[in-house]
Amino acid sequence: MIDIKEAKELVIKAGHELSETGLIARTWGNVGARTGPHSFVITASGKSYETLTEDEVVEVDMNDLSYSGAIAPSSEMKVHREIYLARPDVDFIIHTHQEYATAAGVMGKGHIWFDKDHGSIGPGVLCADYALPGTKSLCKKIGVAVRNASGNAVLMKRHGAVCYGRTYEEAFAVARDLEEGCGAYIKAASPMLREDLDDFGEGDGSMFLTNVQKMEGTRAVMCCDKVVMDYLSMKMDLPAYIDDYAQLIGPSAPFVRNDKEEIMKAAAKYPAVLVDGEGVLCTGKNGDEIAVSMLVRKNCISYFAASSMGKAKKLGVKDAVIMRYVYVSKYSKLEGDLQK
Ligand code: 13P
Ligand code: ZN
Repeated sequence: MIDIKEAKELVIKAGHELSETGLIARTWGNVGARTGPHSFVITASGKSYETLTEDEVVEVDMNDLSYSGAIAPSSEMKVHREIYLARPDVDFIIHTHQEYATAAGVMGKGHIWFDKDHGSIGPGVLCADYALPGTKSLCKKIGVAVRNASGNAVLMKRHGAVCYGRTYEEAFAVARDLEEGCGAYIKAASPMLREDLDDFGEGDGSMFLTNVQKMEGTRAVMCCDKVVMDYLSMKMDLPAYIDDYAQLIGPSAPFVRNDKEEIMKAAAKYPAVLVDGEGVLCTGKNGDEIAVSMLVRKNCISYFAASSMGKAKKLGVKDAVIMRYVYVSKYSKLEGDLQK
């Protein structure tokens, strides 16, 4: 149990660290701490980690999930409660959308064994079955995996991971060890991921924006990471393999010829456009273009990881459409600052 004042400070600190280390993109993920026998604090839903205030770390009653004030707690508060109930020793939880762990969770395995003991998570990790984010079904599936897990992390299929421990430091050590273990695992499984995953490439994409987009404050970057260029060489659309890609980009991003007019037309409709031989044009406002680029890369890594097990299975189109709808109509609006 952590004193509420200290818990809120630690959660805010963890939020900063999550964004700095790239374990999440945009406002996804959430952080919380146990503050009493029947209470915990958790980050508010959809708020920026960079500007998180103490008011945006909400105390929740473990019995009925009630809270006071106008700021709604994370949509995954049920998952956090489930972990506290299953693991009385756990006082700190982070839910990440970290790259390698997410990609490993697309491979369709129930259990992933590492080649060596990876510190705080031990020799392997369980992957919970898929369910849409924020649902009771997801909470139940994660609860089952957490109860059966031997270490302090569980993968969330096509979504991310939950990492937990007695303290802030322990939970972060778990997230780091998990990323190291899953990175080694997906690289061993897929020759396409073996080299150059750290080879980032980025160009300016502003010349492909229409005047209307420029007026609205849209920005563009061309993502040319090695793994993205490898996907591009197949000359195919890029469908969603993971939840956050479906939310920010949609069920699929189109592949187009390297023709200025064609690119501009596609970019007016899609936040990510695969441009033949060039890269993926990522557009958005207030830094969302960077989040789009991160998700394109993570989705490509997930595709290659899943392909190492046979034909990569896409996220269900119905699920992807629901997620995109909820994201556009509700979730993206929670972060008031971004809309100004
Ligand atoms: P919240 O912003 O509601 O915490 O949701 C983020 C997330 O990652 C859901 O799975
Ligand atoms: Zn999530």
